[in-house]
Amino acid sequence: MRENFNLHGIKENKVYESIYKCVHCGYCLELCPARDASHFDIYGSRGKMLVFKALIEDKLEITQTFGDRILNCALCRWCTYKCPEEIPTDDVFITMRYEVAKRDLMPPIVKKVMNNILKKKNPYGLSTNEITRWASGLKFENNTETIFFASCMNTTMGYLDLIHKLGLPFDMLAKTMDILEKLKLDNLIIMGTRLLNLNKQYHQTLRNAVQLLQKINVKVGYLFNEEPCCGKPLHTYGYLTEFQEYAKHVNKLFKDKGVKKLVVVNPVCAYTFKILYPKFVEDFDVEVTHIVEVLDENLDKWTNIASYSKPITITYHDPCYMSRYMSLVEQPRRILKHIKNVVLVETERSEKNTYCTGDGGIEITHSRAAIKIAQKRVEMLLKTRAETIITACPACISMLRYGLKLVNGEKEVQIMDIVDFVHKAIS
Ligand code: SF4
Ligand code: SF4
Repeated sequence: MRENFNLHGIKENKVYESIYKCVHCGYCLELCPARDASHFDIYGSRGKMLVFKALIEDKLEITQTFGDRILNCALCRWCTYKCPEEIPTDDVFITMRYEVAKRDLMPPIVKKVMNNILKKKNPYGLSTNEITRWASGLKFENNTETIFFASCMNTTMGYLDLIHKLGLPFDMLAKTMDILEKLKLDNLIIMGTRLLNLNKQYHQTLRNAVQLLQKINVKVGYLFNEEPCCGKPLHTYGYLTEFQEYAKHVNKLFKDKGVKKLVVVNPVCAYTFKILYPKFVEDFDVEVTHIVEVLDENLDKWTNIASYSKPITITYHDPCYMSRYMSLVEQPRRILKHIKNVVLVETERSEKNTYCTGDGGIEITHSRAAIKIAQKRVEMLLKTRAETIITACPACISMLRYGLKLVNGEKEVQIMDIVDFVHKAIS
């Protein structure tokens, strides 16, 4: 059973005890994406545990270099899953990040993202009009008892694609954003993304999700420009006090709006609301479901009309937040197997054994490592010889696309969100 976070620091925290449970067996090292990308054991969980122990024993100080080391991790939970001592490694990493954040030693890009979330309620600091553009013309219920949570990650993922296209390393991003802001040219990112239509696919996934819900008679409202970011980056980068305050504010908003249930497309947000909010906010009582769960629970309402006209071979990439964080591995497979003419081929690393695509926060702080991870995952998926890679996370889609480009595989295979794949099958 995982302990709730307390916010008093490592020595008083349960995390302190779990670090001493590490027996240095190294089961966590094989196929740790951060270690694979760097080839240094220090970036695997075992190496991190040794460093943390030295820290607790006052043999080491928390510095920017220390912060840099612990941010070189995708929080993919592979090590948590593999650890025979059941160390909640991701909780340990987050607590260490908390120590770094508390000392104001986080890199500028992380601070920028934090400020954007706290001030503008989205990581890029975009206007709310930009965030709700995807919903133009769609009809929602007036009542907000059950709401569709679109997620700022889904609505703005095209900006990440633009940055990939520009080849702009993320470590340069904070500086570039600062310069653009000072020159009052920050709209350039929006304009570039619009010009290249980079948000189109992510916005279409949201529209398809709403249409699917309507088809199976699940009635949803939408908060439009009042929809907040779930706040996960605050948690990811160890701003735990800020995350708790932020989550309380979101909880109040949901209560004021009468929200009882969320249908969420993004697995990171779904995990944040479903698992983290109840740990950080005492009276959070909103029911949270990921759209894959909704489609799975309602198979009888759509599978009789779901079909592809000719056989199609697909593989499914399990996003870490779907599989290792929320144990949603059977549901997407059941959905895919219910579509006529679909042949599902599994990859060598699937379900809870999945391999990260290079997101999870590492793409912002260690972009070179993230790119190597994306490429490695794409190479694994290509071995299945599937025509289409299906997944259920916009960040995975963005990273896989980037990885695919690096191996010149764009003509070999297409990458689709499971929502789009189902929508196409019933259209
Ligand atoms: S698997 Fe667990 S016990 Fe073994 S080295 Fe890694 S963190 Fe330590
Ligand atoms: S969470 Fe993933 S990337 Fe981070 S140390 Fe564990 S296995 Fe490696």
